[in-house]
Order: sequence, then C-alpha cells, then structure tokens
Amino acid sequence: MKAFNHATIHAEYHALYADDLFVRLAAWDAEQERQMRECMSDRDNYDLDGVRAVVVTWREVCPNGNAHRVAQAVLAERLAEDASARTHHVLAGRSFVIAIEFEDTDEGTREANSFMERHPSVGVLEVVDGRVILAWKEDKGEPVGPIRRMLCSCCGAVTPGRQWRNRDTGYGLCVACIDYCAKRTEPGEFARTYGHRGVHYDVLPQGSAE
Ligand SMILES: [Zn+2]
Repeated sequence: MKAFNHATIHAEYHALYADDLFVRLAAWDAEQERQMRECMSDRDNYDLDGVRAVVVTWREVCPNGNAHRVAQAVLAERLAEDASARTHHVLAGRSFVIAIEFEDTDEGTREANSFMERHPSVGVLEVVDGRVILAWKEDKGEPVGPIRRMLCSCCGAVTPGRQWRNRDTGYGLCVACIDYCAKRTEPGEFARTYGHRGVHYDVLPQGSAE
C-alpha cells in the first residue's frame, strides 16, 4: 500500500478518482442487476416472452450496457426450465436467434406489429406453423448443414436432423424422446448435449409426420 500525503494524493489524484469511479460503477451495475433479477423473478408479470421483451428493449436502449446481458441471463435461466424450448429458427439454410414470437392469429399479429413499432431493431423472420417469428434485423444467421437421416441417441430410431457439434456423427434426437431426455438432463445441459430445437432435432414443420 502506497503512503498517502498531500503531495502523493495531489500527484495521483486522477488515478484515485478513476479507481473510485470504477468501484462506484461496479456497485451500480451490481445494484441494477439485483433489481432487475428481483423484478423479473415475478413470474405473474414476466412470462417467457415478457423476459424476451426486456432483452429486446435493453438491447436497443443501451447496447453497450449491462442490462440486456442481465436480462439475457434471466432468459437463459427461464429457458433452461423448459429444456426443449425453441430458441433458434432456420430459414434459407441459416440459423437465427429468435428475439420473440407471437401466435399467427389476428390478436397475435396485432401484438407482433405493436411490438415491432416499439422495437425497430426486430423484424419478422418468418410466419410459419402458426408462429410469427421475430428476430434481430442485424442478425445475419449462422449457416447450418442440410437435414440428414440421423439415429436417435436415446432410442436408436431413425430421425431427420442436423449434426450438432457435441454429438457423435450421425446421432441426433427423435421427437418422441425430447420430453423424456429433457426431464433427465440438468438445466442448461440439454442444449449443450442436443443442440437447438428446430435446428438440430425436431426439424420438420410442426404437426408433420416423421
Ligand atoms: Zn428417440
């Protein structure tokens, strides 16, 4: 520890001031995170799409700030409770992160339009299978491979899917095994193990036969 006196404090004033400022900023971030988590833990007020909306809002309001990362973390925790929730959507050979989605009904369409008016950073990615899927306009998507004939790593059945990097080549997950495996996998582990629903497994339009 440096000895402080009038001379050294005067000489190092800026460094001391900067240190103090960073401590205050860190404390402010921590307090903001605590408040956001407390607020969003009210599940009656914040369902899954409510949390998604908070992520979108903060990403727009303050792209370099901490708030949308906190909201993103809360969203990840919430998604982990429903291990097989859809987080990505494939269009034209690319996988996009879903910002938020609405039902393809009159009311859902109104909600989607109103959401896009409030959040110009998101737009319609695709309307398909009764879903209005919104993604970030800046998202260019990640290229994904073609749908192939895979073997379910749980039951051994033949199932269409795309290769996920953490699975052995040729192995995926069949639709019948999704719930079974989701219940038996730790939160967060499921996506690491099986990839993204609609991208790597459960790749056919909803309601279509395998
Ligand atoms: Zn299976």
